[in-house]
Amino acid sequence: MVGPDGIGKRTFARLLAKTMLCTGSDPSDFSPCCRCEACAQIEASSHPDLIEIARLPDKTGLIMDQLVGEKETRMRSGLCYELRMKPYSGRRKIAIIDDADTIAEEGANALLKTLEEPPPGSLIFLISTSVQRQLPTIRSRCQLARFQPLTAEHLSQLVLRLGFAESEDEARTVAAHANGSIATVAHWVDEDLKSFRQELFGQLVQRPLDFTKLAKAVQGNMESVGSDSQPRRERLKIILDFALQFYRGAMQASLPHEQHGSSEGKELPPHWQTLGSDAFIAAIKRCLEAREHLDRMVSPASLIEAWAADLAVISRA
Ligand SMILES: [Zn+2]
Repeated sequence: MVGPDGIGKRTFARLLAKTMLCTGSDPSDFSPCCRCEACAQIEASSHPDLIEIARLPDKTGLIMDQLVGEKETRMRSGLCYELRMKPYSGRRKIAIIDDADTIAEEGANALLKTLEEPPPGSLIFLISTSVQRQLPTIRSRCQLARFQPLTAEHLSQLVLRLGFAESEDEARTVAAHANGSIATVAHWVDEDLKSFRQELFGQLVQRPLDFTKLAKAVQGNMESVGSDSQPRRERLKIILDFALQFYRGAMQASLPHEQHGSSEGKELPPHWQTLGSDAFIAAIKRCLEAREHLDRMVSPASLIEAWAADLAVISRA
């Protein structure tokens, strides 16, 4: 299952698992009863036939232990082993592997054996943000399902339902910034991040952009989450997403009104109006590239500096 973060891939996989394991309805109806014990166990993540793994918060990726067990019990515990057990419900075993982008080569090789010869009736979902991040050997053994970002309408309904906004108007405004992702909404409404985002936008709007000041602010905010590398990377990812939203917004505002509708009343500062759409596209590309590099474990400090310096060059275009 491939698509951006926060658009419901995991939710969908769990719903499908519920459909398959529900004892109160026929799986072919695709309508789990949500009342039987199996449904309740899936809600509580305690169904013995549903095995779920995801990257642990303090790790940069899925680890071998999760797939094939800890050293002492290697191949006698872990996801691949559990999948081979006889289904407790008499139906099937289902595995959901979230953050499948982060499986290192060693883990992928361990998983490969299971993907090559899956236990009869088993279902294995790999959840990923990019096909390119999967090793070709894994990719060739999977059936690809692409997930699209949520529509603005669906996202604003979800924003309301989850309490991220109090009125329909507010929900629509929040959804408009979020590129179809509820994860992005959560960052957008986060009180701790709000003032930093304002500061960031205030800096990005300067022409020319002061890249040492920008790099310092970004570095400072990233370090504010503690000294562990993984939370820092997560924070930097959020900051890069904010920058992306800034440039996307700027590009929209630079279009003639009839092309984007003037409902938001967003106006570019006069010194930005001379910046062509090429410059905005270059800035968007640069932010996406930085995000990509971050996933490839480049040192965050040098990544921030190079990114800020390039944005400064673009801002002088
Ligand atoms: Zn049920």
